[in-house]
Amino acid sequence: MLLVSEPVLGPDEQTALASVIESGWVTMGDRVREFEQAFAHLHEAEDSIAVGSCTAALHLILHALGIGPGDEVLVPSLTFVATANSVLYVGARPVFVDIDSAEIPLMSLDDAEAKCTSRTKAIILVHFAGYLAHRDTWQSFARRKGLLLIEDAAHAPGLPAVGTFGEAAAFSFYGNKNMTTAEGGAIIARSRALRETIRRARSHGMTSSTRQRLTSRRPDYDVTILGFNYRMDDLRAAVGLAQLKKLPEWNDTRRRLSLCYRQLMAEHCPAVMIPFANPWPSAHHLMPVVLPTATDRQPVIDRLRKRGIQTTIHYPAVHHLTFYRELYPDTFLPRTEEFAQRELTLPLHPRMNPADVEQVVNSLAAALGTEFPLGAIA
Ligand SMILES: *Cc1c(COP(=O)(O)O)cnc(C)c1O
Repeated sequence: MLLVSEPVLGPDEQTALASVIESGWVTMGDRVREFEQAFAHLHEAEDSIAVGSCTAALHLILHALGIGPGDEVLVPSLTFVATANSVLYVGARPVFVDIDSAEIPLMSLDDAEAKCTSRTKAIILVHFAGYLAHRDTWQSFARRKGLLLIEDAAHAPGLPAVGTFGEAAAFSFYGNKNMTTAEGGAIIARSRALRETIRRARSHGMTSSTRQRLTSRRPDYDVTILGFNYRMDDLRAAVGLAQLKKLPEWNDTRRRLSLCYRQLMAEHCPAVMIPFANPWPSAHHLMPVVLPTATDRQPVIDRLRKRGIQTTIHYPAVHHLTFYRELYPDTFLPRTEEFAQRELTLPLHPRMNPADVEQVVNSLAAALGTEFPLGAIA
């Protein structure tokens, strides 16, 4: 089965794990610190904070920025549910914003403007499918409205300019992301003070870590703020260090495969629309396509599955999920809703090659009833 996404794991990760086990120090040790520094370095940031997940990262960022009850946060609905959930965790209200268009399925500036109230405190931008939102546009919008700008960069690790938009950015190392630690996440934050608050809140609000108490004269600690256990461990950090070395090369492979998709799709599935202009700054996390309006999507998914090709949907609109529909029944986002109905995500990961892409395009053409002779693709 050709999967939508697949992690690349091998001897490097095995060796990394074995060395942590041999060291006898399994959590919040040197590997975690080394990973934080390496991750920051790749993004030309001063420092980063490794955490247990991107969801934890988003929660910590909102918590440390003091967002809470009575506040509203603009979020896309075309995203993973965690983006909106993190806003509810701090007692604030997520306000869903529509996308620009099917061609540019990123948060719409006009709709964001329309959804702003005196209670709006922050915006969480998502670089959907790895495609970078427009930095200057959002920075000037945030400045004009006095809003805090946060990036949900789960889809875009290793992409230049990611993490430089506003106050902070959250990354995911879940198994299906561009790099993985199985579970894991990281935070890049602009101000040192914000980083210190986040670092403390990551581990119960404590003023020192187990490791620091080992190497210090003073075994006591204080708790100065409400904190959580959102720590990363050294096993994951060691895997992350091994993955990080290969991330730029993997992102480049994703870029080449995406280009290959665009060329073959234009030729053989001309009725299928591929969002985003080419080129566009992107980490190419996903390969989203938009099926023709009249297409019944489920039979296409079934036919592709029969040919050994997995496809998925990014995303079912968050405001249409039962929990959110019950919470905010009056939300209407026409462009997001249409996109969510017509979108199909094709396999894209660094273990694929151009022949796999050709097979997917061939199968999609067949599934859409516009079959072309096998071997017709050069
Ligand atoms: C995967 C993902 C998350 C959540 O990441 P976890 O590490 O699984 O918590 C958040 N936002 C987006 C856009 C994602 O794709």
